[in-house]
Amino acid sequence: MEMPRSQAAFERAKRVMPGGVNSPVRAFGAVGGTPFFAERGEGAYLYDIDGHRYLDYILSWGSLIWGHAHPEVVRALREAAAKGTSFGTPTELETEMAELVTSLVPSIEVVRMVNSGTEATMSALRLARAYTGRPCVVKFEGCYHGHADSLLVKAGSGVATLGLPDSPGVPAATAETTLTVPYNNLDALAELFTRRGEQIAAVIIEPVAGNMGCVLPEPGYLQGVQDLARRHGALFICDEVMTGFRVALGGAQSRWGLDPDLTTLGKVIGGGLPVGAYGGRREIMALVAPEGPVYQAGTLSGNPLAMAAGLTSLRLLANAAADGLFERLERFGQAVVEAFTEAGRRVGVPVWGSAVGGMFGLFFHAGPVRDYQDARAADKEMYARFFHRMLEHGVALTPSQLEAKFISALHGEAELALTQEAIDAAFASL
Ligand SMILES: *Cc1c(COP(=O)(O)O)cnc(C)c1O
Repeated sequence: MEMPRSQAAFERAKRVMPGGVNSPVRAFGAVGGTPFFAERGEGAYLYDIDGHRYLDYILSWGSLIWGHAHPEVVRALREAAAKGTSFGTPTELETEMAELVTSLVPSIEVVRMVNSGTEATMSALRLARAYTGRPCVVKFEGCYHGHADSLLVKAGSGVATLGLPDSPGVPAATAETTLTVPYNNLDALAELFTRRGEQIAAVIIEPVAGNMGCVLPEPGYLQGVQDLARRHGALFICDEVMTGFRVALGGAQSRWGLDPDLTTLGKVIGGGLPVGAYGGRREIMALVAPEGPVYQAGTLSGNPLAMAAGLTSLRLLANAAADGLFERLERFGQAVVEAFTEAGRRVGVPVWGSAVGGMFGLFFHAGPVRDYQDARAADKEMYARFFHRMLEHGVALTPSQLEAKFISALHGEAELALTQEAIDAAFASL
């Protein structure tokens, strides 16, 4: 594909930014080639600076459930910006956001807004350690919870793609407080609790593992994790930065009947602006400053632009959910997965896929993909070829097999047909 402007833009960016990007997966490390530079987005589509149009399944890594430049989100942003972009003093918008989040996610009684998912998980862990007085946290191999030091251990896609199992710069003493076990394996977790239970402050999990593809929890698994944590006096933290307001209006926890002590949010909650949040049981959140002694702050936290975009997106979602939006998104994802597995079968290439709510995963692996070991065994070369064929046919998937793909409310019948045709054409020339 001809992309002289993106190529020039990437060369220029590489001279002044690490790898030419502000977040590693954007550099196409896992699939090779030059990333296309975005010029603008509209609804389900992205346009690059060379004039190509792509049906977008990246959607700012899942943030844009209402697609690009949704008129109501843009209007809310304009109105908020005209009144001032940040005050550093409380606003009623922040309370409206907190009221909406606590009503949509009942396990969250009290919530604190931050500026990214990373801040949310980092703060939730600090709080869990303070509440329990214990030093360690359990995470699952292949789950990503942002780039805080203690969470950069077996952290999935971006890190795996770069081949950095643990990042240099993370002190060994910090990494040692993070204990990891395989996803979808209750016995391994039970065994860990038997050995180290007294030291474990919290278990943090992506209820659907979206940073190693889209790996679904097996029946009873999440409930089992919650039960084990409770039995051993550890907090159960659902990291719903990706799944929140995406797999269901109330997040994965509503879908799987969970009652986490703490929840972390990001992506969709910001409507495309930098936002994160953490919240949960009132008694635990009471430890957060200034109510309690656990320090956590933010100059721009809860700023009016972020709150306006987030609130508008969530209000639109609440209405659309009543009309079956999440069921429609899931049917769309299933149809894409079917087209993918059908095409694979036709040409004799082992493939596997999964879909839930507004996210799905496509693997060049015979399946089932149930943990990080399976996900990593998938064929990277095949995915890279498939990814570039899809781009040539005007469909932008996430540039790694180990990243979920995302659907917006504006992906309709025409977009599904376009995707199915692109898949067939891509397999025909793999
Ligand atoms: C994206 C993500 C994060 C990190 O959020 P940032 O806003 O990128 O810091 C944390 N947890 C999960 C599950 C994520 O998908």
